[in-house]
Amino acid sequence: MSISPGDDALAAIVGTLRGDYRVLAGRGLLDRLGPEMRGVGLGGRAFIIADDALFPARARRVQDVLEEAGFPAHVLALPSGEGTKNMDVVGRVYAWLSGLRTERIDCIVALGGGMVGDLAGFAAATWLRGVPFVQVPTTLAAMVDACLGGKTAVNLREGKNLVGAFYQPRLVLADIDFLDTLPARELAAGWAEAIKHGLILDTDLLSTFEEHADAMMTLNGETPVAAIRRSMQIKAEVVSADEFETGQTRILLNYGHTVGHAIEAVTGYDRFLHGEAVSIGMVAAGHIAHRLGMIDEGLVKRQIAVLERFGLPSRADGISVNAVIEAARSDKKSRGGVILWVLLEGPGRAVTRRDVPEALVREAVARVAGEAD
Ligand code: NAD
Repeated sequence: MSISPGDDALAAIVGTLRGDYRVLAGRGLLDRLGPEMRGVGLGGRAFIIADDALFPARARRVQDVLEEAGFPAHVLALPSGEGTKNMDVVGRVYAWLSGLRTERIDCIVALGGGMVGDLAGFAAATWLRGVPFVQVPTTLAAMVDACLGGKTAVNLREGKNLVGAFYQPRLVLADIDFLDTLPARELAAGWAEAIKHGLILDTDLLSTFEEHADAMMTLNGETPVAAIRRSMQIKAEVVSADEFETGQTRILLNYGHTVGHAIEAVTGYDRFLHGEAVSIGMVAAGHIAHRLGMIDEGLVKRQIAVLERFGLPSRADGISVNAVIEAARSDKKSRGGVILWVLLEGPGRAVTRRDVPEALVREAVARVAGEAD
């Protein structure tokens, strides 16, 4: 599949083992959802799984758009919030699909942020051993990150995202107009992931964030739209190169996540949004890279400055350093307690390292905990 000239909304094409899929982003795109779904060979009925925040008005609008394109469509609204992303709710989704006799020719449409995308994707991966699904992300975090790449999951009591599958969508369509109702804090947390893409792989994108923070936070003009598309493109390239995270590429997206996830776990997932924790995690990783002699202090400060322009935190004052280090060691991506760090060796250049002395980690975490000042 090639990017058709003239289609400005086409941000990227993800290449996967089971075929390519298109990633579209722009304002007022929703009307294209039905025709685009037809274009990738989808038929049957559409089962829309929507976040309550989009229900009823916008979920009904998606339903209308799909019906107009000839897809008989049903809607299931799920309560907002991470507490919904569990096996009990997946069971409710199966019961709904079963009651409506959903077949393999039908498809599931995820309408919401990463919570709904992960849960609906998991239901799609497992219902009848897999039915097609489409991502319609409605948060910035989902647009620039969670909606593409095929990671689906639910949480268990034992931990986050412990049950899931790699299962790619057939299409991603991000209508940026959805973001008009997103709270500013959620917007900033979404930008954190996009800034991360700039820091690890694209200095031009990083500069765009440095120069246009105000436009990004108000979503004014074309610059934010271009930044969202570029961010999606970066994620798409990484995922296409390393679909199952078996190589050294996809792991780079984990920049800031080792300490970030640990901070989220230690604070009970309610003090920081995910992007905020990643912001602090990136600052900690910056301190480590500096102490290892990989980057100069200027880049550490530059990173903090761009994050702060977006109102993102660079510290988690009062957090327990020991608890954060313990949680980082038990992260899914650690092997035998040895953490695989993603660190910068320059702006737009990330690498992985296993040889980070614990004393340096302790020092970096103490700094973001506000202990070292
Ligand atoms: P979310 O889905 O919980 O949405 C955040 C909040 O925004 C919720 O309260 C929701 O109701 C509300 N909301 C959604 N769309 C809205 C809109 N248009 N207007 C107003 N409010 C709206 O959070 P998120 O940050 O999008 O996603 C977090 C989830 O994504 C976590 O479960 C995380 O594990 C997962 N995730 C998955 C991947 C992946 O690769 N699959 C990557 C990162 C995160």
